[in-house]
Amino acid sequence: MSAESSLPPGSRWTNWVGNQSFTPGHAAAPRAESEVAELVRRAAGQGLGVRVSAARHSFTPIVETDGLLLDLSALSGVVSADAGRRRAVALAGTPIHGFYEPLWQQGLALINQGDIDTQQIAGAIATATHGSGPRFTSLSGVLRGVTLVTASGELRTIAEDEPELLAAAQVAVGMLGVMTRVELEVTAAYRLREQVDLWSFDEVLERWDELVAEHRHFGLFWLPTEASGALYNLDGHGRPMADRCYVKIYDEAAPDEPDDGTPGRRVDRCYRIYPMVYDANFHELEYFVPLERGPEAMRAMRELMLASLPLSAFPLEIRTVGADNAYLSPNHGRASAVISVSGQPGTDYWPYLRAVDALLTQFDARVHWGKLHFLTPERLHALYPRAQDFIAIRRELDPQGMFLNAHLRALFN
Ligand SMILES: Cc1cc2nc3c(=O)[nH]c(=O)nc-3n(C[C@H](O)[C@H](O)[C@H](O)COP(=O)(O)OP(=O)(O)OC[C@H]3O[C@@H](n4cnc5c(N)ncnc54)[C@H](O)[C@@H]3O)c2cc1C
Repeated sequence: MSAESSLPPGSRWTNWVGNQSFTPGHAAAPRAESEVAELVRRAAGQGLGVRVSAARHSFTPIVETDGLLLDLSALSGVVSADAGRRRAVALAGTPIHGFYEPLWQQGLALINQGDIDTQQIAGAIATATHGSGPRFTSLSGVLRGVTLVTASGELRTIAEDEPELLAAAQVAVGMLGVMTRVELEVTAAYRLREQVDLWSFDEVLERWDELVAEHRHFGLFWLPTEASGALYNLDGHGRPMADRCYVKIYDEAAPDEPDDGTPGRRVDRCYRIYPMVYDANFHELEYFVPLERGPEAMRAMRELMLASLPLSAFPLEIRTVGADNAYLSPNHGRASAVISVSGQPGTDYWPYLRAVDALLTQFDARVHWGKLHFLTPERLHALYPRAQDFIAIRRELDPQGMFLNAHLRALFN
């Protein structure tokens, strides 16, 4: 294959945390959308499967292929931003941080974002990557248009005038084709105030309704042991952290509100407040339960984690996400309380993660496609009311299943 890849022939691809690796049959790094189309056409002619590697931050085997692996990092940059319509168009390989300055210069910003900003926008959209806030959707929920190279090798743009196709494309884990550009709904530039504090578990539960209703958004980490905070770089500034919650509350700040250096408080442009600093030493599972069942699920998780120590030493992260209509979205038709836990690399954390899965299944939990999970086809169809519609569109656009791999074929064939 032409379009020289950053992955030399015969070498192994490994994801960022190091729990997935494989050797693709071919690898290429196209520099233009037309080149992507040409590569897909040639792969189809040779009967090869095609998958894309973005920033490699997923924990699940959703990139793996023995066919053609594409690297779209050269297709990067915000192409246009329209302050009147609050829209931005970007190439698929644009990292999330690549939106910051181009949008801010137009008086715009991303509506919401997650804990890190190194993912490529197409990778983040493919798995419904989210931040927090019950009134804000994931990045998939703000996708208003997408250009895909489909299995026929054509560049096809799906926009709001094809709502069913768009609802399928918003969260597709790469199964409908190769995204080359995306159009996002964005918002007016805003500043954020972050207030961090340590609360007791009971205080969080008592103030849950206030946290949900009265702030722009919040997130928290419950720390099962004294050593847990350090695993996610959370600093208690000398205070005891075991069985406490590291609560982060966010509200919009006035344009002239200063950052006065108060401990635990930061005020800045939104995009300077969102990202956390992570080390790459955790393997994460993240499940989505109906928002109103969040406190009940948290209480059950605390009991399970205390009984599962030391396997469960990583913090329990809690966020919220707003509802959307995307067929495979974990937030389809319902706002979520999002619960994530991690296993320690190098230990057999599977019995613990299976116990988490068994517990949260009782709360009708849906999964994050990029994080460890135990979903079966039966559970997929019970939990995602439009899964069959997604599969029908997938089969229509890709009858030979060239964009499936073993992991995805087991669920979406
Ligand atoms: C440290 C860390 C922090 C994280 N924080 C969060 C968080 O706050 N919120 C959250 O929701 N998730 C979070 N995640 C998960 C992460 O956002 C998702 O796994 C996301 O998909 C990773 O994006 P990526 O660019 O690395 O994509 P990859 O992992 O490389 O790819 C993801 C999927 O998208 C497909 N894909 C990529 N590009 C294209 C394209 N152009 N066309 C078609 N398919 C494509 C890939 O084939 C793959 O199936 C975190 C992960 C890590 C490791």
